Amino acid sequence: MLDYENIGNTGDINVPPLLIDQVIGHEESVETIKKAAKQRRNVLLIGDPGVGKSMLAKGMAELLPPEVLQDILVYPNAEDPNNPIIRPVPAGEGKKIVKANKSNAKVYEEKKMMLVMFAVAAIFALGLYYQKIFEAIIAVLLIIFIAMQIKPKNTTLSPKLLVNNGDRRFAPFMDGTGSHAGALLGDVRHDPYQSGGLGTPAHERVEAGMIHKANKGVLYIDEIGTMSTKTQQELLSAMQEKKYSITGQSENSSGAMVRSQSVPCDFVLVASGNIKVLEGMHPAMRSRIRGYGYEVFMKDSMEDTLENRKKLVQFVAQEIKNDGRIPQFKPDALDEIILEAKRRSGKKDSLTLKLRDLGGLVRAAGDVAIEQSAPFVTADHVITAKKYSRTLEQQMADMSIVQRKEYSMFNPKGGKVGMVNGLAIIGDRSGIVSPIAAEAAPAQSKNEGKIIATGKLGEIAKESVQNVSALVKKYTDKDTSDYDIHVQFIQTYDGVEGDSASVSIAAAVISAIEDIPLDQTVALTGSLNVRGDVMPIGGATGKIEAAAEAGIKTVLIPKSNMKDVMIESKYEKMIKIIPMSTLSDVLEHILINGNKKDNLINHIKKLGNHVADNIPES
Ligand code: ADP
Repeated sequence: MLDYENIGNTGDINVPPLLIDQVIGHEESVETIKKAAKQRRNVLLIGDPGVGKSMLAKGMAELLPPEVLQDILVYPNAEDPNNPIIRPVPAGEGKKIVKANKSNAKVYEEKKMMLVMFAVAAIFALGLYYQKIFEAIIAVLLIIFIAMQIKPKNTTLSPKLLVNNGDRRFAPFMDGTGSHAGALLGDVRHDPYQSGGLGTPAHERVEAGMIHKANKGVLYIDEIGTMSTKTQQELLSAMQEKKYSITGQSENSSGAMVRSQSVPCDFVLVASGNIKVLEGMHPAMRSRIRGYGYEVFMKDSMEDTLENRKKLVQFVAQEIKNDGRIPQFKPDALDEIILEAKRRSGKKDSLTLKLRDLGGLVRAAGDVAIEQSAPFVTADHVITAKKYSRTLEQQMADMSIVQRKEYSMFNPKGGKVGMVNGLAIIGDRSGIVSPIAAEAAPAQSKNEGKIIATGKLGEIAKESVQNVSALVKKYTDKDTSDYDIHVQFIQTYDGVEGDSASVSIAAAVISAIEDIPLDQTVALTGSLNVRGDVMPIGGATGKIEAAAEAGIKTVLIPKSNMKDVMIESKYEKMIKIIPMSTLSDVLEHILINGNKKDNLINHIKKLGNHVADNIPES
């Protein structure tokens, strides 16, 4: 597939040192991030999970100048102990200042101890001299007690290092995803002995938030819409002011009495999420980013070109380097990864960019190789890894096939009236056979028949029956409103999508009304419009593979999805794939042959050629 002339294995590939150059498939987004870094602009990244959003944000932090970094110290405030003093110093200075203060405090402590000991000795000697032992002992105890009282006060002299950037080579990157207000905005710990003067002094209880630790760097927040409106508002004001006082976040705590001077928090915000995240996002936050930054949409796939395949190879090399434990990949293993990237994209001539998941496969293949003590990862290891690294949904789908066979809910043999093998997707891309049953009985009420749909996808079923009723009437000369029609999705799972079931529902209903059995060796998927055209659906590959696994012999899919089919070669011999453009194509292939079928098909044919027969291929 690829020309690997120059590589014996992935170890020969150079991994770029900067993270931003390791981001694959998002050239435009990378350019925008570079521009945003130069100008210190905020960024909103919208895209699916695992396409590299946090990676881009981290990469941005590496582009910000580290020389402007600061350490932040917090000092006690003698005039107002509840308002600790904040002092920024150049990065690296903070630690030194704290250390110098500590050693000053130590010298002071030692001097004080000597003084106390001298006083004790003197009083003791005097006491002995005057034979007043008892008074002498009392005096000694008193002095020891006083000395102990002085001690805690003493430590208040040294400042606390609130933010330490001493050892950083790059500007900080803070991931504030899912943090509570305290972790994000800073907090003052509770002091159980608050007013007694014996507890920890206020300034030592001040804790920096991520907004402060991200000063001069990047604050990254994924799923920003799930953050409470109040926290978003505070975050927004921190962005505007570029400084934010730290106070106790829990109202009943003594920490809430303390409020530090304002602490610098001049960060760049990179917010991210999928498109739904915008709903929960504070409008002012969005407009702030739009006005003072960039909005970037990240793709979930890239074109299948030689150049992009090479990038995927680079990706594999990166993942191996980052993992540090797995062996290098041989060219045949890389070909297998590229093939999988193609399959996972679900589209023709595309490669997936959901690289977090693909990275999982790379690691799993590496683990298989290690287990077999192989020096390199080969295609066989990748193929084995695919079996082991099945997602939860894939495992559930496998299990459901076994279960359904056991309970004879599903039997891919012979013909049955009103029973159809629908196909659905569970999770991201795992197919599942989802049987649908329909029954038609003469309407109970004179005026109108009812549509009774049960199962989790009842609403979708109802809508589908309503949508196809015009077609049923046209195709069968029968009125659906003369019937009470029951439709049931047999045993559905959470996360099963139902919108691609309308073709299946129509077939089941027509079979039930006309009393023509449906071929149980056939499974189908497709969306039907009111004119009888079969419209494209998602997840064609996963659905076909699931049908093959379940022992189905033929699968009907929308003609326009034919180009998306990338089933693994082992399934190719197991199943026949037939494209369909119209509902009549569907009926021809799924109804069991016989007089009734011939009559119906002839009737439909007489209705004339349907527009949908001429839908273009793509
Ligand atoms: P997101 O934030 O979009 O959920 P991440 O940035 O956390 O995704 O990606 C997780 C991991 O997957 C990364 O650390 C990297 O190893 C890999 N990865 C994801 N997308 C890309 C990409 N576009 N280029 C290179 N590696 C990627």
